[in-house]
Amino acid sequence: MADHYDVIIVGTGAGGGTLAHALAPAGKKILLLERGDFLPRELDNWDPPAVFVDGKYISHDTWYDDHGTPFQPQVHYFVGGATKMYGAALYRLRPADFGEIKYSDGVSPAWPIGYSDLEPYYTRAEWLYQVHGDHGEDPTEGQASKQYPWPAVSHEPRIAKISDDLSAAGYHPFHAPCGILLDEVRRPASTCIRCAWCDGYPCLVHAKSDAEVIAVRPLLGQPNVTLLTGAEVTSLRTDSSGRVVTDVEVRREGETERYSADIVVLAAGAVNTAKILLASASDQHRNGLANGSDQVGRNFMFHNSKAVAALGAEPNDTVYQKTLGINDFYLATAERAPLGNIQMLGKSNAGAIRGEEPRLTKLAPHWSLEDVARHSVDFWLTTEDLPMPGNRVTLDPNGRVHLSYSFTNATETAGLYEELKIILNRTGLAAHHVFRKNFYMDMEVPIAGVAHQAGTCRFGSEGSLSVSDVNCKAHELDNLYFADASVFPSIGAVNPALTVMANAIRVGDHLIQRLR
Ligand SMILES: Cc1cc2nc3c(=O)[nH]c(=O)nc-3n(C[C@H](O)[C@H](O)[C@H](O)COP(=O)(O)OP(=O)(O)OC[C@H]3O[C@@H](n4cnc5c(N)ncnc54)[C@H](O)[C@@H]3O)c2cc1C
Repeated sequence: MADHYDVIIVGTGAGGGTLAHALAPAGKKILLLERGDFLPRELDNWDPPAVFVDGKYISHDTWYDDHGTPFQPQVHYFVGGATKMYGAALYRLRPADFGEIKYSDGVSPAWPIGYSDLEPYYTRAEWLYQVHGDHGEDPTEGQASKQYPWPAVSHEPRIAKISDDLSAAGYHPFHAPCGILLDEVRRPASTCIRCAWCDGYPCLVHAKSDAEVIAVRPLLGQPNVTLLTGAEVTSLRTDSSGRVVTDVEVRREGETERYSADIVVLAAGAVNTAKILLASASDQHRNGLANGSDQVGRNFMFHNSKAVAALGAEPNDTVYQKTLGINDFYLATAERAPLGNIQMLGKSNAGAIRGEEPRLTKLAPHWSLEDVARHSVDFWLTTEDLPMPGNRVTLDPNGRVHLSYSFTNATETAGLYEELKIILNRTGLAAHHVFRKNFYMDMEVPIAGVAHQAGTCRFGSEGSLSVSDVNCKAHELDNLYFADASVFPSIGAVNPALTVMANAIRVGDHLIQRLR
């Protein structure tokens, strides 16, 4: 195997996989280094106890919080990265998210690019990832140069009723953008079967638009693309000037291997990208590679999210529930800061409830949880989390990850929950049954829930406040780039993956120009 490449990409998730897909047609010799393996296709993919109780697909990493307490982070190391488990809600950030936004706890900073700069790449990402939706339905969204490639996924009757009730009450519900390989008109056998196993599960039939299925698999066998799995990048080494990455050090099958490339791109996810840089300290980069600004690892964000199962008297027999979104509270008003986005979660089931709430459900018989799940309508609330310098990834002398984190925007998070309660009362979800009236079972995601991790190596025009420039090239190095969620200067309040994918395609266009 040749050891020198045009481009080495570290990580095959939303950022790395998409970048490889964008670069490969240009004929560049690409090495993809992925620490995980292919996620096995097996019945456990769709087994709630295996996925939620046993955590079968969660990594065995141990990280430490700022008190030194160990925890198991909810990260997934596979070809396709976190997208193997994601819910494929593929939202664009709203134009306002690219500007400065004031919150009660501080300011969400502006991006070095605007919505219009990313718009063509959002469109390309939506077409690549086969997104279903209806541009123009949600009044908060920005201009789109092209409609989605697929019509919006239809609501099932219970969700359609909620949508109608919301419209009647003056809200603006919209069809959520979904990345699934579903053809509701022709229904060919090879595509999505519209099941309940999307959000939080791997797709057994490969009908979810994840980075493995959409971006990486189509490259396998192409002569200019090499994928090494089980290849954990441990550090990067530079030449004596400190400006050029010369070696990518990899731990594979218990051995250390070295690879080199004209361009090296980190896309290992926000925490692991920072980890690699901090582990690459040298005489030229004493504080960690590309870290003269002391920004590497800082400004970690992961959204203030809340899952709410609203229990109504009426059963909810919806199978694929993720079709509805509400952004009526997304933008600031004269009276308050933005509160965030409300969308639907994958449908609750007894196994998942037990796995997510083991203490609460310890003594509950299975039938009672099944009854709860049958009646629940499941919402997912997201409020923007601010990039705080003290919310950061550091390594201890043994190279172990420490994640210091304090929540921000509690006022806005609580405000969004209050708005949801009003919605539930207006949509009949709180009525009729005495025991379940206004009974909401909610679950705050603890620090281990790093599904939406972002920040740690933000891009920006000022070298003292950022790690990389507007093209996501490290300020202090000539051939090191970033293509994952680590570059986010702020995270907005919608799911991050489509923005990661769009930005990776943008970085890909830049690299094609540079390598020409
Ligand atoms: C359960 C769940 C549900 C989610 N739902 C949604 C959703 O509905 N919509 C949405 O927009 N987002 C969702 N997300 C978040 C979304 O998946 C992430 O934001 C996105 O995948 C981040 O892209 P990334 O490229 O930064 O990281 P990842 O996609 O995680 O890719 C990082 C890759 O790097 C690899 N890697 C890590 N360290 C190393 C190393 N040292 N050497 C080599 N390889 C390495 C990893 O194995 C992985 O393949 C969800 C995430 C989870 C976990």
